[in-house]
Amino acid sequence: MPCDPEALVDRIEAGHILTAEEAESLLATPDEATFRLVAAASRLRRRHFDRTVKVNYLVSLKTGLCPENCTYCSQRLGTEAEILKYTWLKPEEAVRQAGFGIAGGASRVCMVASGTGPTDRDVERVAGMVGDLKQQHPRVEVCACLGFLKDGQAQRLREAGVDAYNHNLNTAESKYPEICTSHTYADRVDTVTRADDAGLSPCSGLIAGMGETHAQLVEAILALRALDADSIPVNFLMPFDGTPLEGYWELTPLECLRILAVVRMACPEKELRIAGGREMHLRALQPIGLEVANSIFLGDYLTSEGQDAEADLAMIRDAGFTVLGASAGDAADEAAEAGATVELRRRGAGTDQRANA
Ligand code: SF4
Repeated sequence: MPCDPEALVDRIEAGHILTAEEAESLLATPDEATFRLVAAASRLRRRHFDRTVKVNYLVSLKTGLCPENCTYCSQRLGTEAEILKYTWLKPEEAVRQAGFGIAGGASRVCMVASGTGPTDRDVERVAGMVGDLKQQHPRVEVCACLGFLKDGQAQRLREAGVDAYNHNLNTAESKYPEICTSHTYADRVDTVTRADDAGLSPCSGLIAGMGETHAQLVEAILALRALDADSIPVNFLMPFDGTPLEGYWELTPLECLRILAVVRMACPEKELRIAGGREMHLRALQPIGLEVANSIFLGDYLTSEGQDAEADLAMIRDAGFTVLGASAGDAADEAAEAGATVELRRRGAGTDQRANA
């Protein structure tokens, strides 16, 4: 028997901490009752974030050519995905690309590099870029996502002005060996902890739809809560051609809403970001997702194209939300269009095509 979501939110507002059993019960909500679950979770969203949407913008500093073997990833070792592949962007190009997102309304820029983790020289390279970016855009938040961190690297990034560090747990510890064998779940926890200890705001999330059970999804969500990540990106698997999960598809738009609602109810005051796979899995229900999540990425992802940035901004505006800390600008008055296949990114960083921002 599923929990009554309204009664549960009453208790959460009074200090109750969602249990694993309750979370599993909520994930089992039937399709026809899912909007009721969303309405209950949206009370928590409004209490902590009102009607604002934080817009983030990804800049892929280095794309592809990773020696790790994460099953879901188009940049993994031996991938046959026909993604862009390039090594480090020049600092001025990284700052230029970030500027497109900031002009589009992003208050946080996520500077991401593929690979196991940075060398100290890479950290210095990123530190320089962040200094340049902050000089031009002093109010922007910068999140770095560079892989596993070694001694002193988180501290150096913090000194350079980096605000946050992203490193996703991705899935449950009990599922991890099935999705990656070149590193461990504990390695991932270690890097999030290092970032937190250095004063970087920890950002860590998950990828749903990789064959995990509801119990494993709950295990991952409660692990993120235990890590006390300030922001939680929820990705929905994008089954890239040329990866082991090519063609794998188990999510529905309503299941995605249930997952978002459970993350909100488990972590009511945390920044919840709908991340990769938003367009292809939520489809027409993307704006309903904003009733629960309070953040999205603008425009494109690391190796795939998102819907047009103008459509993202129009969606925010049309659903009655406002972009946090920025004007939504002249958002197009168009509905978001569903994409049933992964569109490989061919614009923005690493190309001479204008960014989708
Ligand atoms: S470490 Fe990052 S870039 Fe490399 S395969 Fe895993 S997810 Fe992809």
